[in-house]
Amino acid sequence: MIQLIFASRNQNKTKEINNILQHTFPGRIEVKGLESLDYVGDIPETSLTISGNATQKAMFIYDRYHQNCFAEDTGLEITALNGEPGVYSARYAGIQRNDQDNINLVLAKMTGLTERSARFKTVISLVYENTPYLFEGICKGKIALARKGNGGFGYDPIFIPDGYDHSFGEMPSSEKNKISHRNIALQKMIQLFSEKIL
Ligand code: IMP
Repeated sequence: MIQLIFASRNQNKTKEINNILQHTFPGRIEVKGLESLDYVGDIPETSLTISGNATQKAMFIYDRYHQNCFAEDTGLEITALNGEPGVYSARYAGIQRNDQDNINLVLAKMTGLTERSARFKTVISLVYENTPYLFEGICKGKIALARKGNGGFGYDPIFIPDGYDHSFGEMPSSEKNKISHRNIALQKMIQLFSEKIL
């Protein structure tokens, strides 16, 4: 059984990733979150890019524990705002990291704008047997004029993926997961495991 540390304290993400991996490689890969290590502090995220932050988090844990591990970082990039909030997505409206404040700020900055295209970007950084890998997942769409639905989390209520007329916040998680940036990046990591490792 391959064991991977997921450099995150988000147990929902750990569970979601484990479910997908169990479905693909039953009984062969187990993902454990940071709570399985004795590390209690924050993991630094000081890079100016999404991929830089993902790499920083994975390397931080690998350097300390020498265990195969991966980290992910996600940002919303809005064309009319020159790619903002991007790497600052979690703390766009301030260090309180509040989803509602972040959405309000995006909607306020986009008042009156007709160019509303945007994309979510997830980067997964994996360090496996001392070799680093990067996997990117992009989901394109547009920013709604107002919140739609209250499912999901983060910016989901204002993001309408291309090909849909409802927001991520209006979709069941099973529907979002089929097309999401995070799942696209994860599928690329799964592809690597199926080709090179398992
Ligand atoms: P993190 O990289 O998961 O910490 O996410 C950074 C920011 O993007 C946070 O504000 C999250 O709420 C937001 N975010 C991450 N993934 C998603 C998503 O799938 N939908 C909506 N917002 C997200």
